[in-house]
Amino acid sequence: MTAVSPACPKTMEYGPCGGVAVDGTCEVADHRCVFLDAATVEWSGIDRDGTRMPRPGERTAAARAMRDLIATRPIVVTDFPARALSLASIDECAQALAGRVDAVLAGDAGTARVQFPPAYRASLVQRRGLPVWAGLNMRDRNRVAVEGELAALAVEGVAGVHCVTGDHTLTGHRPDAAPVFDLDSTEAVSLARAAGHLVSVAESPAAPPTAQRAPRLGEKVRAGADVCFVNHAGGVEPVRRFVDEVGSQHTELAGFIPCVPVVTDRGSAELLASFTTLVLPDGFIDRILSARDPEAEGIALAVALSEQFLEIPGVIGINLSGGRDGGEMRFATAMATTADRLGLGG
Ligand code: SF4
Repeated sequence: MTAVSPACPKTMEYGPCGGVAVDGTCEVADHRCVFLDAATVEWSGIDRDGTRMPRPGERTAAARAMRDLIATRPIVVTDFPARALSLASIDECAQALAGRVDAVLAGDAGTARVQFPPAYRASLVQRRGLPVWAGLNMRDRNRVAVEGELAALAVEGVAGVHCVTGDHTLTGHRPDAAPVFDLDSTEAVSLARAAGHLVSVAESPAAPPTAQRAPRLGEKVRAGADVCFVNHAGGVEPVRRFVDEVGSQHTELAGFIPCVPVVTDRGSAELLASFTTLVLPDGFIDRILSARDPEAEGIALAVALSEQFLEIPGVIGINLSGGRDGGEMRFATAMATTADRLGLGG
């Protein structure tokens, strides 16, 4: 009997995802990531048959405005820490961040898979005067629903759209839900660009196969990506190497936005340390855990790391990331304070 090859649980065409474990194990299944030993998959259209290669659309006014801002100065984007499905929490956090950061990355959360639809959430946030960079995952909707969301996000006038394949439903708090994964992040990029958005993607330089992370980003750029959010990769030098490697080959990329961890207390430090696929700068968590005032130390470290990232040629901004159930306003306030100290944003 012939052995059946393992398949990607996310049915990715342009893998691998960012969730490959450090030993090469799949994020979801009990086998090696199927892309680990394969060549980088070249962008050749949705479904890789060349028949669906959407044309880039005319940029929305909001996309042009964000591109103009990026051309003027570094930007500060933050995660949006509001409680899912809570109008009060969304309003409260939006008010805390409005005028102090340039946009919030309103995306997925492992602890709250059920969220308001992206365009509706963007509307709720933007009515408070806070621009949204909308996260769009491929786990929860097929290509038709994705195209509908992209159209609604264009009408809403979001600053950018962040296309991710997304975590599998087997991780997070709704393992009962069927995963969709009709498209993956690279395919979604082309649809978002066709809808006129400023399009970002994520890449994780520290995730296996590390040698393929830069070429893989290159394929996302060929699909239409404008900006790369760089996941925690171990500090300044790993990010610098990654930016140098990609940036020298893809000058059409507007730039890179590294993620900067914001930690407000022991609980959030320990939560961050538990994410085994994230690589933090040496001593980062220890310094916060041993500080007399962990929040003040967390903000000071976030400011210092942001300033170092912003010195890297090709880095156009930073993304203050973090959040924890029950600590929504504390995070929003800490992120706003960090942005204030950087003298950027809003
Ligand atoms: S790690 Fe990600 S890309 Fe690799 S097989 Fe698993 S789900 Fe697919």
